This record gives sequence, C-alpha cells and structure tokens, in this order.
Amino acid sequence: MEHSVPLIARIALNRPLRRLFDYTVPEDLKLVPGQRVKIPFGRQQATGLVVQTGVEPLPGINLKPVYAAMEDWPALPEETVSLLSWASDYYQHPLGECLFTALPPALRRGRKAEEKSVEWWVACDHDEPLPANAHRQKALLEWLNQQRGGAAASDIIRAGFTRAQLKALSDRQLAKAVSAPVSDSEPEAPELLERRPTLSTAQEAAAEALTSPRKGFSASLLYGITGSGKTEIYLHYLKQHLGPSDQALVLVPEINLTPQTVARFRHYFGTRIVVWHSALNDGERLTTWLKIREGEPVILIGTRSAVLLPFTRLRAIIVDEEHDSSYKQGEGFRYSGRDVAVYRAHLNRCPVILGSATPSLESFYNVEQGKYRLVKLEERAGNATPPVISLLDIRSRPLEGGLSRPALKAIDQALSKGEQALVFVNRRGFAPVMMCFDCGHMIECPRCDTRLTYHRRDRAMRCHHCDYQTAATEHCPKCQSDAFKPVGQGTERTEDVLASAFPTTPVVRVDRDSTQRKGSIQSILNQVNSGKPCILVGTQMLAKGHDFPNVTLVVVVNADGGLFSVDFRAPEQLIQTLLQVSGRAGRGTKQGKVLIQTCHSDHPLLKTLCDGHYLDIAGQLLSEREEGQLPPFRAMAIFRAEADTMEKSLQVLDAIKPLTNFPGIEAWGPLPALIARRADKYRAQLILNARNRKRLNSLLTGICQELDQRKPGSGVKWMIDVDPQET
Ligand code: ADP
Ligand code: ZN
Ligand code: ZN
Repeated sequence: MEHSVPLIARIALNRPLRRLFDYTVPEDLKLVPGQRVKIPFGRQQATGLVVQTGVEPLPGINLKPVYAAMEDWPALPEETVSLLSWASDYYQHPLGECLFTALPPALRRGRKAEEKSVEWWVACDHDEPLPANAHRQKALLEWLNQQRGGAAASDIIRAGFTRAQLKALSDRQLAKAVSAPVSDSEPEAPELLERRPTLSTAQEAAAEALTSPRKGFSASLLYGITGSGKTEIYLHYLKQHLGPSDQALVLVPEINLTPQTVARFRHYFGTRIVVWHSALNDGERLTTWLKIREGEPVILIGTRSAVLLPFTRLRAIIVDEEHDSSYKQGEGFRYSGRDVAVYRAHLNRCPVILGSATPSLESFYNVEQGKYRLVKLEERAGNATPPVISLLDIRSRPLEGGLSRPALKAIDQALSKGEQALVFVNRRGFAPVMMCFDCGHMIECPRCDTRLTYHRRDRAMRCHHCDYQTAATEHCPKCQSDAFKPVGQGTERTEDVLASAFPTTPVVRVDRDSTQRKGSIQSILNQVNSGKPCILVGTQMLAKGHDFPNVTLVVVVNADGGLFSVDFRAPEQLIQTLLQVSGRAGRGTKQGKVLIQTCHSDHPLLKTLCDGHYLDIAGQLLSEREEGQLPPFRAMAIFRAEADTMEKSLQVLDAIKPLTNFPGIEAWGPLPALIARRADKYRAQLILNARNRKRLNSLLTGICQELDQRKPGSGVKWMIDVDPQET
C-alpha cells in the first residue's frame, strides 16, 4: 500500500487574526476538533485549539508539525466549538479569540488541565460558647451553618470575613477545613424546606405557562413586575424540569451585588450550585470549568461569560434581568450574553427563559414576531403591592444637595415609622464638575472630552472615562479665585446632606467606590436586611435585583439625564432604570412610595411611567423605533475607529463607506463618537442600518476580509460592533 502523506490540522490561536493555521499531524497523534495542542509559532511555542482535522495537504507547501496534544480529550466539546463558530461569524470576531474565551485563563496560557485542591470549610457540631464580644466569629459561624456543604475559603473572605476569624473558630473547634464539599445527599433539614414559600396562584400559572408542551427548544419571556417572585419561579422550574444528571445555566447581570440570589439557589440545590464571575481567581475558575466540562450535574449561576463555558449536558437556560446592558460585552469579542444564550438553547434543543420586570424592546419584538412566548406575572408575591410612583417638579424649588423639601419630608416620615429609604443618584463622587464662579473655568480631563468628577472623600478629581486623576484644589487653577465650587450632584454629596439632615440615622452609600473592598457589599446588605431605619444612597447598583423588605420609600434625585439624549436607546434605558429602582420600594408587607424629582414633569414618557405599566410604555417605544427604522426593526452594526488624530479615524471609516454600498443597507456617518476623545484616542463611527440581518452579516464578512488585506495606517485601529448597545 502506498504510504499516505500526513493529513493536516487547522488550528486557531488566541490572537486577533481572522484566519487559522495549518500544521501536519504526526502519525502517532490522533486529534479531534476542540483539542488543545502545542505548536511552533514563529520562533515561539504556542497553545492552539484544533478546529478541523483530516484536511488534504496542498502540494508544494511545507508545513510544520504539531508538537503534541495537551490532553487526549478535547478541551472544548463539539457543541461549544459550534456555538463559538456561530458567534465568531455573527459578531465578526476572529474565531481563535472567540474559542479561547471558553477556556479558563490558566488553560489559555497553556497550563495543565488539573485542579489544585481548594480549601473548604465547614461548621462543626461542637458546643463551645463564644465570648460575648466575638461578634464577627459568631456571625461567621452562623453564616457557615447556612452554607449547605460548607464554603470555599475564598467565598468566606468574599462574604466579608477574615482569615483570623476562621482561625479563631478553628481553634475553638467550631469549624474545620476539609478537602472537598460535604456531600449533599443527606436528607434536607426541615427548617430549610419550611423557608420555601409555596407558589401563589399567579406564580403557579406562570410556572405552568413556562413549561413548553413540546420537548426541545423553546424561548419564553417572563415579564414579571418587580417583586413578583421571578426567582422563586426559576427555582421551581429547575426543581421540576431538571433531571439528576442535567446541567443548567442561570445568567445574572452582576453576581457580587446580589449574594442573596445565590443563597436562595443554594437553599434549594445545595452544592449543586456553582458560580462564575469576574472575582474568581484562576484556580477557582479552573475547578469550576473542569466540573462543567466533565459533565457534573451542576447549576451554574454566572455573569455574561458563563454562557460560553463547555457544558456537555445543558438542559435549561435562564437569563435573569435580561434587559441589563451588562450582558453585552463592550470591547474585544462584543457578544451579547443574552442572545448567545438563546442561540445556545436552540443548539442544545432545550428551553431558555428570559426574565425581567422591564424586558428589552428586542425581546418584546421577538414576542411579536412569534419567536418567544410571553408569560406575564403582574402581581407582587406575598402580601406586597406595587409602589405608588409620583413626579416631583423641582423647577422652582430650593434644593439641598439636590433634594427638595418634600423629598426630605417624605424621608423623615418613612424613618419615623421605623422604615428605610433609598435615594438614587446617577453619579458617584461628590459632584460631576468643579467650576469657577468668577471666570467660568471648568476642570476637564486632559485626555478625554469630559469633565473631571470631584471626589471629596479622597480629595481627588477623577475621570470616569479613563484612569486619569489629580489632586483637588481649593482655588481656580486658571484665575486663582476661591469662588471655585462643585456643581451638580454625586452620591457623596447627597450622602453628606442626608447625614446632616438626619444625624441619628445611619446613611449607607452604595456605589463603585464604597463597595471596592471585598465583602463590603455583603456587610452593607446585612445592615439593610437587619431592617432598622437607615437611608441608602447609591447609583445603578441599588437598582439591581435587591430585595430589601423594609425599604418603603425611593427618591430619585434627578430623572432628566436620559430624557433628551441623542442615543436612541436612552428613553428605554431611562424607563428601565427608573422602574427597577422604584421596584425596590414596598417589597415587604408595607406599601411602597416613589418620588421622582424632575424639571420636566409634563414629559409624556415620565407621565406614563407613573401608571407603572411597562407593557404600554414598551409598546409606545417600539412604535417609535419602527417609525425611525431603528433596531429591533432593523439590524445594526457599527464600525468604530480609534486613532491619535480624528482625521485618521475618519479616514479609515471614509475608506470603508464605499464598501457598504449595497441595496437595503444604509450607512450613517462617519462621525465623531459622542465622547470624541477618550484616553487620548480620537474616536469615530460609521453606523450601518439594514433591513435584512443575513445580508448585513455577509456584507460585513466581505468588508472584514477586504480590510484585513489592506494595511491599516499606523496608530489606527478599527473594530466592528454588531447589535451595538451604545451608539
Ligand atoms: P423578583 O425577582 O420578581 O423581583 P423575588 O423572587 O426576589 O422577586 O421575590 C420577591 C420577594 O417575595 C422575596 O422576598 C421572596 O422571598 C418573596 N416571595 C416570592 N414568592 C413568594 C410566595 N409565593 N409567597 C411568599 N413570598 C414570596
Ligand atoms: Zn477662575
Ligand atoms: Zn479621561
């Protein structure tokens, strides 16, 4: 028999290159797609992922051989490779970089797929009394007792406890380190079962409606008003539909903000729950990744990138708060976690549930198109009723730290009834700008077209768009006048005003600055959940999914930012934020009240908001989008360019524009971006708006190929953003 020439493997590298690389496969090596390999690349050795095998070699081309396989099994199973190939094509992002995002960082770097042991802690049955002043140790012991199966040391630290406290408990033999989670097969403690509410009639009906009559793929939009008990429905759904060897994925916007949600899932499913988010270290990521890859029947609660993990028995996907903008990756591989989730359910022939109190217009559109089923849940769970929302016109009212008299009075009333109030401010820091009242000078970022936010706590002025910061000054740097003052509202300023107006009440600030330290969000949540009167002041962070039963009043300091924005998504996002933050009021047994301060109380959008009927508002916004021929009625993509001058950026896009000349596709621009200069880069964009998504996709593929051939000028970068969230 004739000796055959060795066949070739096509291999993807973790580089921003829209191409694969061919290598010969030594005869003794069996390779399959998805497998990790060591290959020579240039003068180095690199880690690659096999995409295709058995390719016939072309005559006359000399290829290098693959050095070795890194495992004898594929790191990415076939399903995950298909998913990411689809995503690479849909989002026009190089396949290699897409595939590598499904690996944990350690494996991307070429480490072995072996886990290091995790340090696991459990509470012991030992009756040693703790000294009266050991509050933290006591809290830790209680916390540990609530974690079924124990907890990883890293989770304990993340929950706000310290190593010293752990050691103290261990010295008293109240807790001990074990090598692995304690098995969950033991019968469930009755008190855990008691804590689970039975579903209300409305919840039952919704849960029933979510159950697809047919097996296989189905997509449902669960529109459930804030506090309607969506989480309870997810739990119930998974309990009912998940077989003992099945895997499920629950996507959430930001896990660290809502440890309550994870705790509720753990109550139901114990150690079957695993988490995935940006605060995990490399070792934890590898451990979790291996569980998923090995097909352990886990329920994974994770943020955006969890949707790319190599599940092998995925049988259900839930996307909570599906409208949340954090599902869209803003750089590099710009995918939407929500949309990839829907495609993945399709690929796995399993159900996907998108849940929200304020669903995205995209999802409503898909309901109208018959692609998703709509399941409604329009009453609050338990004895709670929806909050009463009213507008407070502040045009001619004196304000203190942005707060009007009626708002302060309402806070006072809530506190005097022993309740809690929440004040929403849309910017962190003390004030959005420092201004000189003599010469009008305002402090701007030297690297961006934005102003510096004044942070009084650490006497700094910071740019919220790049990492620039400088010390705050007391005089105008231009004319030396001391009439140099903060203008506008930030969380710190509102916090100060509230602290002096209510000196005996704790004021708790929740924003990116106050929650940077590990565990700080947990201790804030503990304080709020104690139910004692307090005032919460914070940004968006406070709007997300929290369940504070004793918050009865929500004050929105200023709602007007989004009313007149040029971004066509601004009204949708404004309404979603306002309804979400309003939804924190009155979730317990007491009626909630929301005061929205505005200078435009006659604005139709704000007026309809008070009726609180999101479906009506969404319908209205959708018809505006249709009139404007905007997404979701059109498919949109943006070419973005960044360069050291605006001229270069515009030039690159000017060169792209003629390539977009195609029937059914409109090109808008190129124009400078909203913030034209950011971190010393000049940014411009060219928007493509198409009737037909498939056509747009094939046009983009062609343009990207063309652009890869051309040499980009020095100092210029272009990228493409499909289904952009920001325009
Ligand atoms: P959502 O996610 O829809 O905002 P949650 O699932 O957080 O709502 O539920 C809101 C509150 O109502 C939670 O405190 C939850 O424990 C409670 N709850 C949910 N379902 C029920 C029920 N059937 N009976 C009593 N309380 C419930
Ligand atoms: Zn001045
Ligand atoms: Zn800046």
